[in-house]
Amino acid sequence: MIANRLKEIQDQIRHAEQAYARKAGAVSLLAVSKTKPAQDIAAAYQAGQRHFGENYVQEAINKQQLLGAFDISWHFIGPIQSNKTKLIARHFAWVHSVDSVKIAHRLSGQRPHHLPPLNICLQVNISGEESKSGIALYELPDIYSQISTLPNLIVRGVMAVPAPEEDFAKQRVPYKTLMQVVAGLDEAGLDTFSFGMSGDWVAAIAEGSTMVRIGTALFGARGRHGNKANV
Ligand SMILES: *Cc1c(COP(=O)(O)O)cnc(C)c1O
Repeated sequence: MIANRLKEIQDQIRHAEQAYARKAGAVSLLAVSKTKPAQDIAAAYQAGQRHFGENYVQEAINKQQLLGAFDISWHFIGPIQSNKTKLIARHFAWVHSVDSVKIAHRLSGQRPHHLPPLNICLQVNISGEESKSGIALYELPDIYSQISTLPNLIVRGVMAVPAPEEDFAKQRVPYKTLMQVVAGLDEAGLDTFSFGMSGDWVAAIAEGSTMVRIGTALFGARGRHGNKANV
């Protein structure tokens, strides 16, 4: 089941790359496995998937222990509390949800020296809703310039979670705006645009996504309350 869905999604990604004049292979898939058991991750891994995204620190660490023999690249994509940065800095290769200088400082300071620098994306609030986490678009250049000097992090790009929207043309709008602001950062080094989820990933690819974060379309619906898995 998961292997079939994975293949379908990969085919659809290649298709969308062609349809929107993106380079073949420009878009990679982050499999979002939050609330799903370790055996679902193992099934996707056996079908070739290597990058997995998790939102809850302890849940992710439990799965990492169960899957220790697998060569998985773990991405943290959930909201970050200050008291969790130490574990995040130790247990992940990527963090997509960095939304303040303070959190970035902590992650850099707490990254163990035997590990390569932590790959990070700055989470940007592109819908302008007060409730959503993320850096406001107007603050992005200043925060980017402060965070990019930290020693144990590599700022790879930006991440966004727009407000849900059904209409394809409307889904594209916030991503287009964000890409315009990013172009103004004048940074050749940014190579990761972490946009697009199960409901809008084609629109995200149309606007320049390089990494779509897909959970539901690959692993099936999560519990109504997003319950954590019994790993
Ligand atoms: C849960 C989650 C996803 C995956 O969402 P789906 O709609 O299930 O594909 C992607 N990104 C983030 C930040 C998430 O929290």
